[in-house]
Amino acid sequence: MDDCLFCKIGAKKIPAKLVYEDDRVFAFEDINPQAPVHILVVPRKHFASLNEATEEDGEVMGYLLLVAAKLARERQLLDGYRTLINTGRGAGQSVFHLHLHLLGGRGFGWPPG
Ligand code: AMP
Ligand code: ZN
Repeated sequence: MDDCLFCKIGAKKIPAKLVYEDDRVFAFEDINPQAPVHILVVPRKHFASLNEATEEDGEVMGYLLLVAAKLARERQLLDGYRTLINTGRGAGQSVFHLHLHLLGGRGFGWPPG
């Protein structure tokens, strides 16, 4: 998608602090971190949100979580971390290319805000 911020970051047309990439996903530091560790893990395939994911996206959806877990282990988030996907404006989604948030390095309340 030509006008998508995260597609542009994945194609390195817009700079970001990339922390991981392979042929299926890329991950970079959030520009407005909500925790000491705040990384976005993004599929290279563009789809706007979980609502647009189809069965063929099932594998990459699982892979996003495995990459997040690997990054959490590397950063020794031993006390716990949070992985989440905001779907739709009502849930706080602001960039409409699906992405998984990895947050860590502080405590988290429940229920979330
Ligand atoms: P969401 O609100 O779930 O759609 O998450 C979008 C996230 O993207 C927010 O946490 C933003 O801070 C982050 N973000 C927006 N623009 C950039 C950017 N250029 N580089 C890194 N993170 C960004
Ligand atoms: Zn995109």
